[in-house]
Amino acid sequence: MLQLVKIHKNYVMGGYKQVALEDVSINFRKNEFVAVTGVSGSGKTTLLNIIGGLDSYDAGDLLINGKSTKSFLDRDWDRYRNHSVGFIFQNYQLIPNLTVLENVELGMALSGANSGEKKKRALQVLEKVGLKEHVKKKPTQLSGGQMQRVAIARALANDPEIILADEPTGALDTKTSVQIMDLIRKIAKEKLVIMVTHNQKLAEEYANRVIHFQDGKLISDSNPFLEEDNYKESGYSLKKTTMNFLTALKLSARNMATKKFRLTLTVLASSIGIIGVAIVLSLSNGFNEFSQKEQKKYMENYPVKIHYKTVDKDATEKLNNKKIPSYFSMEKEVIPKKNQEREDGSITFDSNYVNKMDKNLYLFIGSSYQTGMNLIRKTAQGVGVVFDTSGLGNQSFQKYFLNKEGKSLLEKDYSLLAGKYPSSADDLILIVSQANELDTSILESLGFGTDKNISFHDLLSTNIKLVPNDLYYQATGSGKFALKKVDEAMFSKPGLRKLRISCILRLKRGRTSKFEDGLVANNELTKVVHEMNKNSAIVKAQKSSKEDVINGQAVQSEKVNSLVGIEGFEEICIIPKNGNSRNKIISYLEAWNKGKKSKDQVKIDDNADEYKEDMIKVLNGVTMILVAIASISLVVSTIMIGIITYVSVLERIREIGILRALGARKKDITRVFNAETFIIGASAGIFGVLIAYLFSFPINAIAIRLSEIDDLRIAHLKPLHAIFLIALSISLTFLGGFIPAKLAARKNPVEALRSE
Ligand code: ADP
Ligand code: MG
Repeated sequence: MLQLVKIHKNYVMGGYKQVALEDVSINFRKNEFVAVTGVSGSGKTTLLNIIGGLDSYDAGDLLINGKSTKSFLDRDWDRYRNHSVGFIFQNYQLIPNLTVLENVELGMALSGANSGEKKKRALQVLEKVGLKEHVKKKPTQLSGGQMQRVAIARALANDPEIILADEPTGALDTKTSVQIMDLIRKIAKEKLVIMVTHNQKLAEEYANRVIHFQDGKLISDSNPFLEEDNYKESGYSLKKTTMNFLTALKLSARNMATKKFRLTLTVLASSIGIIGVAIVLSLSNGFNEFSQKEQKKYMENYPVKIHYKTVDKDATEKLNNKKIPSYFSMEKEVIPKKNQEREDGSITFDSNYVNKMDKNLYLFIGSSYQTGMNLIRKTAQGVGVVFDTSGLGNQSFQKYFLNKEGKSLLEKDYSLLAGKYPSSADDLILIVSQANELDTSILESLGFGTDKNISFHDLLSTNIKLVPNDLYYQATGSGKFALKKVDEAMFSKPGLRKLRISCILRLKRGRTSKFEDGLVANNELTKVVHEMNKNSAIVKAQKSSKEDVINGQAVQSEKVNSLVGIEGFEEICIIPKNGNSRNKIISYLEAWNKGKKSKDQVKIDDNADEYKEDMIKVLNGVTMILVAIASISLVVSTIMIGIITYVSVLERIREIGILRALGARKKDITRVFNAETFIIGASAGIFGVLIAYLFSFPINAIAIRLSEIDDLRIAHLKPLHAIFLIALSISLTFLGGFIPAKLAARKNPVEALRSE
């Protein structure tokens, strides 16, 4: 059955060689009770550990059923320990966190038995050792004798052929010792029991063979078994041992359950990094979503405009690349520098090009003309000019496009505070701020005092008239003109076109402004004015003069424009259907510019895109920095997990020894600790994500309160990010626990069992 052939074992410590076994040869019968005696240090435990496959021999051979173990691999020894050997130790070696039943089941768990089978068999052996009533108890609730019975039950559970007991009664009183010895003798009827004891009396009373050791040498054998070739090679094979991850998880969970406080602290600490990263990601995501939504809103109705002004792109580029001296000038003179080589002027843009565009892309197209308007008003204060139109154009006037879509856009974006939406070219709009404020200069030009508030009614009752150039200007001789006196007489001239402020509007919350606050005129009115003035005396005179007919200065082309209106457009405004069609419209317009000289290109108003790109770049940059900062705490928690796992390894060294004695592989030990880090990592990840999620409620509540945007979800954790963070937490703790877990697996089982 079991054969030791010339076994040698030395321990080398610090250069000193200690002989533990020397030339030991023993044959064991399949069925006998062998007592191994000898003084302390004579090599008894070493012998037992070698027989049990816990320790290795230096020379000689151990034959199992006639088969040499010289070529055994780790795997073979694990299987041998698990299936063929049951250990009973002096100090019981039970796992304190597991119940009596679970301790007994553990060895069977390693052999891969199913849970029903395990329980049945465990209860059977526990009944056999007389512990049926105590199966639910923890080892610490038992007496020494009872604990040793549990150990015996565990040794018997897998029904091994060999039971190895090392001083099983060493820690028990005489009465209990006798009970345990009786139990072992009963077991020895069916198995090979090898028991180490230094109690010669017990050995002789119970065992049927006593072997005596001294200084590692076999001194006497009361009943040697000499039939050396009793066994033929019997094709001895061992079943596989394996610990499934669930058993590992259970072992770790039980261990951790005894250290709840530490576990809680660990999970808390390692979740901080996850919380940080999760909050940063959720803010970044929420902000991104918010700005995308805003952009969409903004872009949808953001008009694409083409201006009559052209930009000399080459010149601008040249200007920008021009070397700007990086020093302060010490010269006592000023260098004239043309600020912008920008050619302003009319270009030959065929507005039909715009009209040929795909009709599905836009809501409507409108165009306005740069036309000066001579507007005068009459109030209680008297008659006066509405704005100064003698300067460049009449730029205070913003134009809207009066058609169905233009009107509906106005209704969509603006609240009507007073009056009616405009219905004809003579209807002006007055736009005020959120607080109903209006610039004093506008109010003054409308003839109001600015020392007290003005009622909507008064504003709507303003009298405004449009005066033709010929009534507005008078010739002063030698081709010059001057403004006539703006008075009651001018105002009451018959045939003047009357304008009115039809309504007062205010931008709705969250909508994009199309106009500045102030007066807005209908673009149709510009056509009317153009027709009215194109043949006026001042326009005719200005067209043939190189000087300004009003102030005598060198003429600017825009002067004529402001007086008469250019034949082309001032601005073409296209309102896209949505953000997508907006891009298509821009591409379509850019196609016009392609291949044209830069001075012939139209300027396409497209700054919404720049805004978007800049925002995203800034946001991504900020997110990256914040994630990096939060990640520092992840690194810290990884190191911490390493330390905690290492401490846990130190605390559980004995458990490691027990598991190895029961046949656990190195891999299984690694698994136990990996299971522990898995539990910590998963808990920390889930906890961290949960906390970050809960944080998003107050964050959003505060953000909504501060911003007054009802649907603002500034903190929004994506499910994908949450899953990613939990996985990250598990991977990081795994990484932290990896080395300690490997160290644990490499522990020598004999030394592990000896540790306290
Ligand atoms: P016993 O069990 O009979 O008391 P052991 O088998 O434990 O004796 O020890 C036999 C000899 O080997 C002793 O001298 C002991 O000091 C030595 N020994 C046992 N284990 C080790 C070890 N791991 N390292 C060094 N020496 C050891
Ligand atoms: Mg010993």
